[in-house]
Amino acid sequence: MHCDVLVIGAGPAGSSLAHRLARGGHGVVLADKKPFPRWKPCGEFLSPQCLPYLGELGLDAGLQTLGPRLVQGMQIGGYGATARGRFRQVGDRPAWTRAGFGVRRERFDELLRAGAVDAGARWLERHEYVRLLREAGGRVVGAVLRDSGGAEVTVHARWVVGADGVHSHVARDLGVQSLVPWLDQFALVTRYRGVALRPFAEVHLLPGGFFAATAVDGDLFSVNLVVPRRTLRTRSGSDWDGFVARHLAAAPGLAERLHGAERAERWRGVGPLAHDTSAQTFPGAVLVGDAAGYVDPLTGEGVYFALFGARALGEALAQALADPRGEAQALAGYRAARKRELGPRLWASRTLQRALRHPWLVRGFLRRAARWPSLADLVVTLTGDSIHPRDLLRPSFWRAFRAAAA
Ligand SMILES: Cc1cc2nc3c(=O)[nH]c(=O)nc-3n(C[C@H](O)[C@H](O)[C@H](O)COP(=O)(O)OP(=O)(O)OC[C@H]3O[C@@H](n4cnc5c(N)ncnc54)[C@H](O)[C@@H]3O)c2cc1C
Repeated sequence: MHCDVLVIGAGPAGSSLAHRLARGGHGVVLADKKPFPRWKPCGEFLSPQCLPYLGELGLDAGLQTLGPRLVQGMQIGGYGATARGRFRQVGDRPAWTRAGFGVRRERFDELLRAGAVDAGARWLERHEYVRLLREAGGRVVGAVLRDSGGAEVTVHARWVVGADGVHSHVARDLGVQSLVPWLDQFALVTRYRGVALRPFAEVHLLPGGFFAATAVDGDLFSVNLVVPRRTLRTRSGSDWDGFVARHLAAAPGLAERLHGAERAERWRGVGPLAHDTSAQTFPGAVLVGDAAGYVDPLTGEGVYFALFGARALGEALAQALADPRGEAQALAGYRAARKRELGPRLWASRTLQRALRHPWLVRGFLRRAARWPSLADLVVTLTGDSIHPRDLLRPSFWRAFRAAAA
């Protein structure tokens, strides 16, 4: 099999990239090891800034057919204090910046995958990545996949894209993946039925971790528990309800909301979560989405990062395919776009993670944010991705923020 671009992994990064390139007339193969729709551990909150990316793919109307729940902001609680922030519509930014969405990931990701196929990408379901193909000089020229029957399938490609998520085997084989030891976390994920649903995502902070919860389509309430992996030693066998109940004792607000509700699915676990990569572009190969560097679930920005990265990479690969002599410059453009847009956001999210280790800091912040809603709105609007940490350096931003409608 021959193509211009082989995309490995059909999550938001891989499917939206495949869509953009196929629509541009390029020969794209999109492969995933799972049959779709497939389950994906996630808090299932889409930040407001995801919407224009879906619009560019012509999928904004499709999203509405999934019946997503509007999310107007975030409620953050912990150590006896609670604050609620709303997404503000700052300056001349459009009205959609005032709400994100809660939607089941298997349905959302299927929308994106089907969009890529409609745009002309060739779909290889249940094809697992095995290894890269390299020419004598070391350049990547394709990959070997394994189909559901166990047969190896060789795909020759001018570019191979690793969009295979946080445990990326492509990144591992390119030799650039490392674990982030201080963020060595594990997540448990499920959904509940029968919870009074609110238009706010919730974060309940605990010593060493947090619960994140969002109302999603189908009147379900998506709940994640994220804790250090070493905490797993304290569980007895597979009694996940007992394990979660012990953590719920430190999150009485959430425990109260779940009281009397029915767990609609089993608990499913995923970890370790935090990986970094030391490089994202290589001769003939590129990484995008979580495969290029993991985004902590605390601020609910991973899907936005994946959609942003796919757009920037789509532009770079289209340029490199049109003019192979300019590929170094095209890929430098992709790296620069990631660094500019995602670098400060990742830094902010990891700084928050470090701050959470100090209960007195969290309590002090939440008490101030409860008294001064603008502070809560600012933090929440930043995590909604429609404003950037860089904006905080401009006096005009502060004038617009004060005047902004929540
Ligand atoms: C517990 C948790 C909660 C989260 N909550 C949120 C949230 O509320 N909001 C938010 O925006 N982000 C959240 N995130 C982050 C978000 O889920 C990711 O950032 C996002 O899914 C990244 O998209 P992706 O396309 O890069 O990877 P993925 O969505 O992980 O897709 C990767 C795809 O690659 C496929 N694949 C993997 N290995 C192979 C292989 N060897 N061969 C072929 N295919 C392969 C997988 O089957 C999968 O379909 C959360 C993450 C976790 C772990």
